[in-house]
Order: sequence, then structure tokens, then C-alpha cells
Amino acid sequence: MHYSWSRYLRLIVFFLAACGVIGLFLGYPLQGLLVGLFTYLCWSLAQARKLYHWLHKPGSGDEAPQSVGLWGDIFDGLNRLHQSHLHTRDRLQAEVSRVQESTNAMRDGVIMTDARGVLEWWNGSAEYLLGLRRQSDRGQFIHNLIRSPAFKAYFDSRDYREPLELNSPARPHIHLLIQISLFGNDDRLIVAKDVTRLFQLEQMRRDFVGNVSHEMRTPLTVISGYLETLVDHADELPAKWRRPIHTMAQQASRMEALITDLILLSKLETGEQMRADNITDLGALITEVCCDARALSGEKQHEFGIHIGERPYLQGDESQLRSAISNLVFNAVKYTPAGGQIRVAWSTNSAGGHLSVKDTGIGIDPVHIPRLTERFYRADPSRHQETGGTGLGLAIVKHVLLNHDGELEIISGVGTGSEFICHFPRERIAERPAGADEEGSEA
Ligand code: ATP
Ligand code: MG
Repeated sequence: MHYSWSRYLRLIVFFLAACGVIGLFLGYPLQGLLVGLFTYLCWSLAQARKLYHWLHKPGSGDEAPQSVGLWGDIFDGLNRLHQSHLHTRDRLQAEVSRVQESTNAMRDGVIMTDARGVLEWWNGSAEYLLGLRRQSDRGQFIHNLIRSPAFKAYFDSRDYREPLELNSPARPHIHLLIQISLFGNDDRLIVAKDVTRLFQLEQMRRDFVGNVSHEMRTPLTVISGYLETLVDHADELPAKWRRPIHTMAQQASRMEALITDLILLSKLETGEQMRADNITDLGALITEVCCDARALSGEKQHEFGIHIGERPYLQGDESQLRSAISNLVFNAVKYTPAGGQIRVAWSTNSAGGHLSVKDTGIGIDPVHIPRLTERFYRADPSRHQETGGTGLGLAIVKHVLLNHDGELEIISGVGTGSEFICHFPRERIAERPAGADEEGSEA
């Protein structure tokens, strides 16, 4: 039964008064009052003891002790609080278990670590994909279990916009895509996806294109060799054969160019024969490429401007860089009408090195720009049928830049000319190699 506080106070006063009155009848009013007070004190102490033991009983899932009066009311209140706490705890526990069960059922590996990489929780798939062990690995550093420098660099970078590809440390045949998200107090949620099948398909595609291109090269060389001989002796051929032979020779050389580009692309993709540590003199490279481009320009008489700024030395593969620069400069020649200007410039700033190829040509509609580096993509092919390109040039440029940690920026508009800028990170810029000629020119 629940009474108000003043009622309890009145009951205590009434009890003490009753003890006083009994004492008065017996001739000891003060002693009667004292006995009442002492009795009340003893009863209160007994109740406090019950409460103390209940509170300190480990795992006290039981109900609070029973009593009457004020103490009974206090115990009932505590009981209600305790029950509602147990209820909330059970509900939260059920929710946590449900979330854990659902993440456990996921095919992707999920791992939670703190900011330093200490393992806190992971699901069953993470155990399979990354070889974590439930009993012994909790509290370990994730870097001790995934011993890949690329993973450590990715974890520490805090820039998780792009996922990381990795072979599983426990099962090397499994190819993983790792994505990290930050949550809570700088904690990390790591999701590992098994992309082995996609990876194998991509590998098969690469191998297929590479092999087919290689296999086609030999017969094509024979065909175009004979065609060239026929073209050289065109005068001796019947008149009706001259045009078809010319066209066949043209198309054969186009196909040869296509196959050379495809082989180059597959080499770039696999990083085969890449000499990434060489120091390339961009000044000399740009000058040579522009010299070839002048020859290509021929009667179109383009005006070339070369500006080589400070530190034109890049750590990277010279032949790959030559392909990229010549693709950009030859594009400028192809897509700039006669008499136009082409400017090639190298500059550096705090962000890194920038190689710009700018022309005053026909330009590109901005809708095409995001797709230009796709293989075989040509902006409006009908517009420049006569240029005969294959649309692989910028794909090659993109892959060369990927291999050199660079990025391609394209600024263009129809009729306003185009600028292609290759941005290289600062770490790629090298010092002038000992013994190289000092060059820094404006032509
Ligand atoms: P390839 O270089 O393989 O012989 P391509 O020049 O057509 O063929 P890319 O170099 O990849 O192919 O260029 C893709 C498309 O981008 C081109 O077809 C062209 O439409 C456009 N493009 C590239 N460079 C320029 C430029 N400087 N000015 C205008 N359009 C350009
Ligand atoms: Mg091109």
C-alpha cells in the first residue's frame, strides 16, 4: 500500500506518542519515548541491512526485499526501478544479438576496430575471408593479422573514398575489396567483399584481348606487307584493282595501329615491363614529341609553343610517358584546323607537376568529357571520320597516368579549343640526374 510522505511522518509521530503515553501510564513517560525511539531505530537498521545485502548481492536478479510502511514503499519503488532496468537490458541485449546475427549472416566480412586498429568485433565471414580467430585475436592489432603495407597505408590514410583491393592473407586465392568507414570515436568499420570472380573475369578479359592482339599481329603483318608491295607496283596492276588495293592497304595499316594500341593497353594494365624508377627528362621528351608532331602537322602548318618550367624530371617509365604525351599532342594536331596553335607546357607548384597540352582546335562538347578516356569512345565519330582514329589514345593516356599516380583533367568546349592537363603528385617529381644538360626553355 502506498501512502504520502506526511502520512508516514504522522504514523511515526503517532507510534512515538503511543510509546510516550504507555510510559506515562506506567509512570516513566521519557523512558517510554526512548524505548519507542530505540525500537524504531532498530527496525530501520534491520531494513537498511536487508537493503544493503540486496544491493551487494552479485548478479542480483531477484526482487528487492519485502517490508511494510515507509521501508516497504522504498523497497517497492526500488523493485519497480530494478524490473524496468532488467527489462531495458533484455530488450537492448536482444537488439544487439539481432544486429550481430544479421551481420553474421552477411557474406561480406565485417570488422570493428578502434582508432589504432585494435580488433573489437568481427563476424563469421571475416573469420573465413581474413583468417581471424574468435578466441585469440580479440584485442590484437589488425596490422599484425593483415600484414600488407598497402592495407596499413590505406588504414592510416583516413581517406576511404576509394576501396582497396587485396589478396586475402589467409586464403591467397581470394581477392578482396576492402572498404573502411569511420564511426563513433574515430573507430573503424571495415567491410571486406569477396570479388574473386569479378577479378578473374577482368583478368580473363585482359588476357583475351592481349592474346588475340598478339595472335592477329603476325598474319596482319604478312597481309599488309604484301599489300604494300602491291601498292608500290600499282602501275603494273589492272586499273580496276588500284583503288581496292589502296583502300585495303589503308585499312590494314589502321588495323595494325589498332592492334599496337591494344597490346600497349594490355601491357599498361598489367604493369608489364614498367620501369617506374627511371628518371625521365620531360623537357627532352616534349621537344622530341613536338618535333614528330610538326612532321604530322605537315601542310596544316600549326604553330607550336613549348614551355618547360622548373624541375622537368619525373620518376616514371619513359616509353609510357612518351606514349601518353604523343597521344595528347597528336590529338591536338588531328583536331586543330590548319594554322591553329598548339602549346605544350610543364609547370610545378606545391601540389605537384602539371603537363598541359592546349590547342585552339574544334574542341569537345562537355557532355562527352567524362567518357573520353573509355576505350573506343570518340566524341561524335561522324564529325571526324577522316581522322581515322580508333578512340584508344586517351585510354592509353589514362592508364599511363594511373601507373604514375597521376590524373587527367580535360577543359574544353565546342569551338573554344581544348586543354588536357596531366597532374602528377609531388613525390613523382625528381631532381635533375647528375650529368644531364641544364634545360628550361621557351620555344
Ligand atoms: P586514336 O588516338 O586511338 O587514334 P582518337 O584520337 O579518336 O583515336 P582518343 O585519342 O582516345 O581517340 O580521343 C578520343 C576522342 O576525344 C576523339 O575521338 C576526339 O573526338 C576527342 N578529342 C581528343 N583530343 C581532342 C582535341 N585535342 N580536340 C578535340 N577533340 C579531341
Ligand atoms: Mg588520339
